[in-house]
Amino acid sequence: MSTIGSLFPVVEASIEDTVAGLTTWVAVVNDPPWAELSERVSAPCAVIPAWDMDRDHLETLVPLIPDNAETIVGIGGGTALDTAKFLAWKSGLPLIQAPTIASVDAGFTDAIGVRVGRRVSYIGNVTPELVVVDLDVLAGAPPRLNRAGIGDILSCHTGLFDWKVASDRGEGAPWRNDLADLGSTLLSELDQAADEVGAVSRDGIRFLISAYRRIGAACAEAGHSRFEEGSEHFLGYAYEFRTGAHLVHGELIGLAVMAMSMVQGNDPEWVAQVIRRSRIRAHPSESTIDRATFIQTLLGLRQFVSDEGYDYCIVNDVDVDEACASRAWDAVASLPREGISE
Ligand SMILES: [Zn+2]
Repeated sequence: MSTIGSLFPVVEASIEDTVAGLTTWVAVVNDPPWAELSERVSAPCAVIPAWDMDRDHLETLVPLIPDNAETIVGIGGGTALDTAKFLAWKSGLPLIQAPTIASVDAGFTDAIGVRVGRRVSYIGNVTPELVVVDLDVLAGAPPRLNRAGIGDILSCHTGLFDWKVASDRGEGAPWRNDLADLGSTLLSELDQAADEVGAVSRDGIRFLISAYRRIGAACAEAGHSRFEEGSEHFLGYAYEFRTGAHLVHGELIGLAVMAMSMVQGNDPEWVAQVIRRSRIRAHPSESTIDRATFIQTLLGLRQFVSDEGYDYCIVNDVDVDEACASRAWDAVASLPREGISE
């Protein structure tokens, strides 16, 4: 029996009602949705737009917090929520988080990640007083960004496999049945919810949020994320490192789960049907990923994992040759092209 619950108080409420109860608050925002939301919420004492997680940039935002500010409120996607965490940590002010797309876990994790050069490093922890789930706002986000939310849940499929491979070799964090059970539960819930996510229904959004809060709480408790992060994330990081591209995270990870499940021989048909039903844009052409770059990235993945100090995973255990990489490409290239069919 897992004892993993949610780390933070999470409520379904409107952002409008939540901030109406605050006196002087700082809005740390992405736009959209801020321009539209600002028409109907009570005025904050300062608005800080978020777009860049570079540490030097974040430091320049600290003086923008007025002396009379009492609360930091993050409203938006990953950069807004992560910037809000940084500013709450620096200022010591209480934090409220309001995710406005269902494809980021930043509202449900306590670790503060900032970018220094090309690397993300974790510099501290901050716990929000409240996470507000405003289903009306979430449902108004672009469907593509909500559907991308399955990427970091689907990654449990390949992440768990990699963790088992590593722990069987005595590498890295030891296996924990409770975390593995959580990963398996999330995957079976995802299978059940995939059509709702595809339709971007309220139930689909509720599932994504519920999954993220459990993932965030489990990662914070365990101090690692092996049950949901493995070779699929490393492939995504390697691709972005090689090309300098910044893709929609969940879409890149969805594609990478498809690819690495082929390499692992780990039920790729199951992955393909979840991707198809949830309508996430995982086909490589939708992220302008070409065959040659994909294959080079996959062939170089063992070296990348070693150079960057990522966890032991399938590419340490098997030799990925041209034929194997080519089969992985064929699998991702066979996925539906959602953006083109819409
Ligand atoms: Zn991720």
